[in-house]
Amino acid sequence: MSLVSISVPCFNEEKTVPIFYNEILKVFEDKKDDLEFEIIFVDDGSKDDTFKIIKNLSKEDERVKYIAFSRNFGKEAAIYAGLKNSKGYYVVTMDADLQDPPSLLPEMIESIKSGYDCVATRRITRKGEPIIRSWFSKLFYKIINRLSDVQIVDGVRDYRIMTRVMTDSVLTLSEYNRFSKGIFAWVGFETKYLEFENIKRDEGESSWSFLKLLKYSIEGFVSFSTSLLSISTVLGILLSILSIILILIVIIGNLLYSNPVPGWASTVCLILFVGGVQLFCIGLLGLYLSKTYLETKKRPIYISKEEKL
Ligand code: UDP
Ligand code: MG
Repeated sequence: MSLVSISVPCFNEEKTVPIFYNEILKVFEDKKDDLEFEIIFVDDGSKDDTFKIIKNLSKEDERVKYIAFSRNFGKEAAIYAGLKNSKGYYVVTMDADLQDPPSLLPEMIESIKSGYDCVATRRITRKGEPIIRSWFSKLFYKIINRLSDVQIVDGVRDYRIMTRVMTDSVLTLSEYNRFSKGIFAWVGFETKYLEFENIKRDEGESSWSFLKLLKYSIEGFVSFSTSLLSISTVLGILLSILSIILILIVIIGNLLYSNPVPGWASTVCLILFVGGVQLFCIGLLGLYLSKTYLETKKRPIYISKEEKL
């Protein structure tokens, strides 16, 4: 009998947790002869009754475990906590809101049994999502795959099943600034991708505002690529060459044709432009420095106030 651990980050999911639990029961009903499961709900500082509901479930069913954070630490921290406390030979991460369809689980389990280290899922459509958001995420994948040394498949979800070996490898990356999609890709291992159509959220609201998503993608860039840092070097070299040419033109014009450079407008424009570029580059440096700063503090990724494992 193999144990499948299902790690579920929950933030204000009081409406979806019971539905989710029933769906998982249905999936494993057919497989009860050769698979056992445990669900690890990670309550990420929910403001509603999520934790109460999880606690009640775990009283009725001992396969339901939980960790409750002392405050909201974010989905990445919740994923980490779930993986860290999983005991199964196979480990699944999935959202509580049923946007990661439990009906895919049997196929995922079959595939991983056939010899893969990981079976991940990707959305091939983004129906029911604002167009501008889809456009930005497409752009994000394009840029990050060009800039960084890991390849992140477009539309890939955190919804996946991994073997124990891969899970333990993921856990060895104990960085504070976590970007799971990058971490999963970075550790390697043979991964199969299953495709599914986007499903609109059943209940509740997506807790990702545009600003949060933007922060998340910056996290992705900064964690998995240092090429942004070299932008400043390249820009610096280009601008220096340009300015040498300009200086030569000005000097020659002055000496040969006694043609003084007219107007201060062009000068002011140049100063503003160069100043802007410099500030941008310093900003980039600051971004990396701030991440390094947080990393060196070695703060815990999450703090739990109550757990049953
Ligand atoms: N989530 C979390 N902490 C947060 C935000 C979200 O644990 O700060 C959980 C949430 O409960 C859900 C999953 O992460 O199970 C995905 O969140 P959501 O549905 O809001 O994101 P989306 O599906 O829009 O990517
Ligand atoms: Mg969702």
